[in-house]
Amino acid sequence: MDYPIVELNNGVEMPILGFGTYQIDDLDVCEQSVSEALDTGYRLIDTAAAYQNEEAVGSAIENSDVPREDIFVTTKLWVQDAGYESTKNAFERSLDRLELDYLDLYLIHQPYGDVHGSWQAMEDLYEEGKVRAIGVSNFHPDRVMDLIVHNDVVPAVNQIETHPFYQRVDDAEFLDQYDVQHQSWGPFAEGKNDIFEHDVLTSIGDQYGKTATQVVLRWLIQRDIVAIPKSVHEERITENFDVFDFELSSEDMETIAELNEGESLFFSHRDPEMVKQLSEIEYDI
Ligand code: NAP
Repeated sequence: MDYPIVELNNGVEMPILGFGTYQIDDLDVCEQSVSEALDTGYRLIDTAAAYQNEEAVGSAIENSDVPREDIFVTTKLWVQDAGYESTKNAFERSLDRLELDYLDLYLIHQPYGDVHGSWQAMEDLYEEGKVRAIGVSNFHPDRVMDLIVHNDVVPAVNQIETHPFYQRVDDAEFLDQYDVQHQSWGPFAEGKNDIFEHDVLTSIGDQYGKTATQVVLRWLIQRDIVAIPKSVHEERITENFDVFDFELSSEDMETIAELNEGESLFFSHRDPEMVKQLSEIEYDI
């Protein structure tokens, strides 16, 4: 690995920057984008059963010159497969679609349904060596704690919405305390709040000859948060990786801290209506 990594609570090394694949529904575009990301140097690829593009991610990995063991592959279990047996089955189906014989990280995608049954299955998969680390996504600290106190393996990762407008300072402190790696999804808030042209971020970037997206990624990296930006444009894939040759000052970090609005720009995972809606989505996976 020739760019910075974080060490997970079981000693596994995870790249601090990766490539996201949410909403890349066209499988050819997905394969092409993941290939470009690997060629650019990204060594972490994030997908999910619910993205319905695991086949394309697998093909890009298969056709890449980068050895499998140098790539950190994450996928996620969707709500419809919560529970012990269904998690084991869903894991095998994901591996088949990815055409891999092990995963680097398997996450519970949403904190709903029988997550304890899922977690026990994931602990078994971990024990069997089929996955190098297991974790969760979209879990608030109380849900992480519930999993910790009732099980053996502490989640290695919690992947949660984290960007300049929703900075998750309390979550970060909690996760740090329990040695759970904080991973950001939606580092650019999917473009909300005009983030790509944001005055504060662009003027910080101007000092270093960098763009707003590069400033955001640098800000996450300097907080020891793993980021997985998504793009289907080669020049942006390159831009988003070009963040290891500058450092934000503590003054810049404080300025960005002031952008925090303290709440999701999408929805709350504690909103009963969203719990219902997300739990009703069934994919053909
Ligand atoms: P994001 O990375 O915050 O934003 C992606 C958007 O930014 C796309 O519209 C992309 O457009 C644009 N973009 C990327 N780089 C750019 C650049 N340099 N300049 C201008 N525009 C740029 O959003 P996200 O995809 O939702 O989040 C990242 C990853 O996190 C996902 O892909 C997925 O792997 C993961 N995720 C996980 C969850 C979860 O529940 N666990 C939820 C959401 C996301 P183009 O593609 O057109 O370039």
